This record gives sequence, C-alpha cells and structure tokens, in this order.
Amino acid sequence: TGPSLPLVPSATSAKFPQLGLGTWKAPKGVASKIVAKAIELGYRAIDCACDYGNEQEVGEGIRNGLKAAQLDRESLFVTSKLWNTYHKPEHVRPACMKTLSDLGLDYLDLYMIHFPISLKFVPFEKRYPPEWVHDPEDPENATMRMEKVPLQDTWRALEALVDEGLIRHVGVCNFPYALLEDLLTYSRIRPSVLQIELHPYLQQPRLLQFCKREKIVVTAFSSFGATSYKELGMDRGHNLFEDDCMKHIARKHGKSVAQVALRWAVQRGTAIIPKTSKVERLVENMSVFDWELGEEDMKAIGALDRGLRYNDPGEFCVSLGMG
Ligand code: NAD
Repeated sequence: TGPSLPLVPSATSAKFPQLGLGTWKAPKGVASKIVAKAIELGYRAIDCACDYGNEQEVGEGIRNGLKAAQLDRESLFVTSKLWNTYHKPEHVRPACMKTLSDLGLDYLDLYMIHFPISLKFVPFEKRYPPEWVHDPEDPENATMRMEKVPLQDTWRALEALVDEGLIRHVGVCNFPYALLEDLLTYSRIRPSVLQIELHPYLQQPRLLQFCKREKIVVTAFSSFGATSYKELGMDRGHNLFEDDCMKHIARKHGKSVAQVALRWAVQRGTAIIPKTSKVERLVENMSVFDWELGEEDMKAIGALDRGLRYNDPGEFCVSLGMG
C-alpha cells in the first residue's frame, strides 16, 4: 500500500499528511485515473474544490484508489473548499452537501474558505461551478459581483458543519495575516490549516512564523511557481525550472528542480499538494522525504524571494471588473 509518508501535527490534534495530490485543472477523463493511481502509490491526501469542476471524477478516483489499495475511507485525508458565491450562512451547508455528493463521501476531513471574498450567490442549477464572473452570458452582469457577508458569519456556519459531523476540520485559503489574527478572536473552532501560494519566489516567512506560533498547519500551493499560471496568460517572466540557483542545487543532489522546490517546502515544515496528470511525476513528486537540502542550499533558495504572487484576487478584481 505504498510507503509511509510524514504527517504534520496541528493545534487541533489532527495529523495531516504532509504530501497530498492537487486536483486543480486535472482534466475530466484523467482526474479519476490519476487520483486512484496516487492513492495506490501512497498519497494519503487529496486536495479538491468545487471550483475545480471535477469533484465527481475525483470522487470516482478516490473510490477506485481505496479499493485497489485495500484501504478504508479513514486512511485518506480529503479536503475541499467553499466557493466565494456560497459565503452566506444559508448557502454553506448546501454547498458542502453538493461537494460531498459529487465526491461520493459522507464527510470531509477538511473544508476551507477558498478566498476571503464573498460573491453574489449563483444557484447550482444556473451554473456549477459558478467561477468568478456573475453571469458570462449577460453583458450587464459579466463582472464579479460582490456580496456583503462578514467572514465571521461564514465561519459560524462552517463550525456548525463540524458539530454535525459533515466535516472534521475547518481551514482557510488565501488569508493574509490580519484576517487570520481576526479569525482567532471569534473562532469557537480554530482554523486547522492555512493554504497559501508558496514557492521560492513567494516565501511569506512572517506568515509562516505566525502560523507556527499559532500551530496552524500551512499547506503550500503552486510550489512550482509560474507553471500553473502561464496557460492562464499570467506569465511574469520568471521560470523556477530555468532558475540557475535551483538547477545548480538540483544537479548537486542528483534531483530535479521540481523535487528541490518540494523538498525546500517540506523542510520549511509546510505540507505540499503538487498537481500532475502524469504517473511518473506522481512518483517524482513523492520522492522528497528520503534526502535533505543542506543549510547552504536552504539559504541560497531563501535568497530567491521576490514577493512574486500569481494567485492574486486583487488582480482578478481589476481584470474581471467589479459590480
Ligand atoms: P503546482 O505547483 O502543483 O504545479 C502544477 C503544474 O506543474 C502542472 O502543470 C504540472 O504539469 C507541472 N508539474 C507537476 N509535477 C511536475 C514535475 N515533477 N516536473 C515538472 N512539472 C511538473 O501547481 P498548482 O496546481 O497551482 O497547485 C497545486 C494544488 O494546489 C492545486 O492543484 C490545487 O489543489 C491547490 N491550489 C489551491 C489554490 C487555492 O486558492 N487554495 C490555488 C491554486 C492551487
């Protein structure tokens, strides 16, 4: 059933697998197979979201993978995310139920607020996933439409899902320091996880320090930097795979640049959720727990920080327009 991979402890006594599989942009037709294969190989966490539009296929992969690896549901850590259009308390439970039904599960290990941004509600039957723009068909409404929902109200509704047993833990994505600090003032159930963009060009050391102090697990997404964003037309002229420093360190250790980026993240104590649709890369990306980067390597990568953020909702607001 695959190798035993490390866990990261959290303040909420849960143990999170340090390696998971990302599923953003995992195409229908491939998602099911790659998720099943990952579980067979030893991945024990799968990172999903309503917004990825593939939870049914991912769910099929989870069932097939558990069966092939002869594992039960409890062996797997499944995470999903509440989309921006469902922040009003009355929409939180239905959104979670829809994700559970698509995945074919009766509970989630972790449910996170996807962005600290509340958008106007779009009914499931109108469009699912609803994405960022309110109504792409209607020129009047083809912009982001904001909704006034305090995050505190959304959090209360998420806490109720824990009480009900539909989710085991609550977390947040893309929260900056001040929102986290605020969340800790009102949360009855603390956030277990902060999922943020982290790679050598965006290192966010102070946020990591804060989470360490508060024992909030940090999960790094887009560990390879620009790779995911180029095809979205968000190239910013920096390619981690071509970085001389990264290439030098990779050569020294006989590893790939991808493995160096993931190992660096692991040594910083963060969880990783690299995404791939290729089996050989599933293996490559999980082979980062039996070797180490030296202090010098960590220092050299530390010097690559440029504060270069790709997943920036502020920018989406400008490019998609706000209503
Ligand atoms: P990633 O850094 O995992 O990069 C994925 C890309 O890198 C893919 O295009 C893949 O082809 C390529 N790749 C994968 N392994 C490789 C290897 N070994 N060598 C070379 N190229 C390789 O990026 P991501 O998908 O942006 O992030 C990972 C996961 O994080 C997502 O799938 C999703 O689950 C999650 N995520 C969450 C948020 C959020 O807002 N919470 C945002 C982005 C991503």
